[in-house]
Amino acid sequence: MYDSGYVSDPDKVDIFEETVEALTALKDAGYLLIIVTNQSGIARGYFTNEDLEKVNSRMVGLFKENGVVFDGIYVCPHKDEDRCTCRKPLPGLIFKAAKEHDIDVTMSFLVGNSKSDIYAGFAAGCRLNFLLGGEKGSLSRENTVSVDNMADAAEIILTLDGKHPKDNP
Ligand SMILES: [Zn+2]
Repeated sequence: MYDSGYVSDPDKVDIFEETVEALTALKDAGYLLIIVTNQSGIARGYFTNEDLEKVNSRMVGLFKENGVVFDGIYVCPHKDEDRCTCRKPLPGLIFKAAKEHDIDVTMSFLVGNSKSDIYAGFAAGCRLNFLLGGEKGSLSRENTVSVDNMADAAEIILTLDGKHPKDNP
């Protein structure tokens, strides 16, 4: 859901206010929030599992301070050459998360900022896949929507499910 690229310094982690608000709205509406991330930086030796733990816990901590608690974080530490089944665009980690949290993938939404995120969501059979920012119009798959940011994605999700505050004053 949030791609920090190859960030390995916990002090460089930052979160957006609008993302906090959007995730809070989703959580309030009863959705589980789960992060599925590729971190080939580990396999490439750019940083260690321990660095990643620090970065992840810093990010999760920042969200928590702002009232957003994630229900799970799933990390693929491999690189392409490892031929694992968990690295996006493969849907392995999504299925793992769904199984462990008893989630119906076909009722789930995926929000990502790269095509590989979207393809993973598509392969998993997610209900709708949101591509954040950029690459607009570059995806022609069904069940895929381009949006500017997390707030727009949350807006659409809540409206689709009739859980938008405007629908439930
Ligand atoms: Zn993997």
